[in-house]
Amino acid sequence: MNSFSGQNFAYKEGIALDGALGRTGTISTPHGMIQTPAFIPVGTKASVKGVLPESIKELGAQAVLANAYHLYLQPGPEVVDEAGGLGKFMNWPGPTFTDSGGFQVLSLGVGFKKVIAMDTETFRSDEVIADKKERLAHVDDDGVTFKSHLDGSMHRFTPEISMQVQHQLGADIIFAFDECTTLHNTRGYQERSLERTRLWAKRCLLEHGRLTNERVEHPYQALFGVLQGAQYEDLRRKAAKDLSELNEGGITFDGFGLGGALDKEKLGTIVGWLCEELPRDKPRHLLGIGEPDDLFVGVENGADTFDCVAPSRQARTSAVFTEDGRVNLSNAKYQRQFVPIDESCTCYTCKNYTAAYLGHLFRSKEMVASTLATIHNEHFIVGLVEKMRRTIESGEFYDFKKDFLGRFYAKRSLL
Ligand SMILES: [Zn+2]
Repeated sequence: MNSFSGQNFAYKEGIALDGALGRTGTISTPHGMIQTPAFIPVGTKASVKGVLPESIKELGAQAVLANAYHLYLQPGPEVVDEAGGLGKFMNWPGPTFTDSGGFQVLSLGVGFKKVIAMDTETFRSDEVIADKKERLAHVDDDGVTFKSHLDGSMHRFTPEISMQVQHQLGADIIFAFDECTTLHNTRGYQERSLERTRLWAKRCLLEHGRLTNERVEHPYQALFGVLQGAQYEDLRRKAAKDLSELNEGGITFDGFGLGGALDKEKLGTIVGWLCEELPRDKPRHLLGIGEPDDLFVGVENGADTFDCVAPSRQARTSAVFTEDGRVNLSNAKYQRQFVPIDESCTCYTCKNYTAAYLGHLFRSKEMVASTLATIHNEHFIVGLVEKMRRTIESGEFYDFKKDFLGRFYAKRSLL
């Protein structure tokens, strides 16, 4: 039990998925409940790009996740604190998350993406860096020194600084500062990094406890520990055991972030290893995952919440989801398609606009093109995970998964 329990953060497991680790549940925060599994749209800089908070709520989102790294650089955590915290600052009354900044600092540092499809068995180096990228971050045992992508100024994050920044930002759910390795690092490096992340997790708990006591007039913020360990089963299981057992003077993690770079092929297996070791009475957030097939795999293997920039980022490039896969509205074939993007979709965009009109807006570079496409894409992904929740409840999850994936990926013949 957390010494701060009873302060409006709780998780209650609902129905378990037959033959798997998946489940439904309810997360209670000081700003409302989240019915899980749930997809959480990303508002990197305290704004889901191009979309008003009212629309985010209307499309069905239950919470929003912002990035500590970006808000630390701009406008600065003290400004958000003075505004009354993230939710109040951005006019989002519901639950909020911030990530620790660790992933941004380190992924911007080496220029690698989170999910990669490549042969990770043959290529190993600890000094590896993506093509045409300058190394912008350096890790040591105490923290990370990094260069701002905005103005090139130097900054430093430690576990304590990340906690201080996230307490000032004031989200309901915050994450421990971790080292996010790439799949290219050597096994030896992954082991050393995992121990470093464990020691940082202890420091995060201590600082979180101190700040919670110091800022007692603020709503309670739940702290999630982040589990690394790359593609190694023993390291992943160790991370889950270690962090769920940590107890610093009565302060324990309220939930867990399933983190790190992930090989798409092994996503379900890795989430499964972690969730087998984690206590069932705490929620699990799968960081940075948002492709439909990955969401099914994550839900089935026990992840409760998800976040990803993909639905909004893709929408801004005119790529939208339909039940028959992703399509690009800039394509000439939509020029006279006077029907919604997806006839079965119930979002604001599909209820009021045609694919032809959206295609026109994109071709003529109208700002509202991104707004309307983002509303549709976020509605599609939020709604997809909501359907997973409902079909776990009704016992039809596996049928839904087969039907959805069979149709969505038919053209790629993945199934
Ligand atoms: Zn729609």
